[in-house]
Amino acid sequence: MNGDINYEYRTGIGTDIHRLVEGRPLKLGGVLVPFDKGLLAYSDGDVALHALIDAIIGAAGLGDIGMLFPNSDPQFKDIDSKELVLKVKDYIAGKNWEVVNADITITAEEPKLGPFKMQMKRCIASLLCIDFLNVNVKAKTNEGLGEIGTGLAISAIANVLLRRRLKRTL
Ligand code: MG
Repeated sequence: MNGDINYEYRTGIGTDIHRLVEGRPLKLGGVLVPFDKGLLAYSDGDVALHALIDAIIGAAGLGDIGMLFPNSDPQFKDIDSKELVLKVKDYIAGKNWEVVNADITITAEEPKLGPFKMQMKRCIASLLCIDFLNVNVKAKTNEGLGEIGTGLAISAIANVLLRRRLKRTL
């Protein structure tokens, strides 16, 4: 086959939303963002990483984040979501999958996330062991509409592409 490598590919999508409350740090895309509120969750509430995790698990056809990391399990209480991303990366690697690229959109009325996007990209690329150029992070507002627009919550949506080498049958 002239040394060609054949891959199979899968896409996945993930979403998440958490309520903004006082007295918690705001973690988004693995980065601590200075703000007077944070996201309420069993873990650290990082909606960007949770959406990413669900996209990866979905692409691999392995269920969802709640199946892998149940919020009834004390080992995940207040866990840094970066650790969950590493666990998921190892889990799919065990099935020969690797992430090709990830595209994440965070929707938050406040704070302004523009200054943190590059740091999030670098963090996510390093967690997934992929090139910085294969991770995209976008931030937008909800134009003042609904729970997100009035600052009650922050949400995220993620899309990923996975690939794995096809076994030769020759
Ligand atoms: Mg979540």
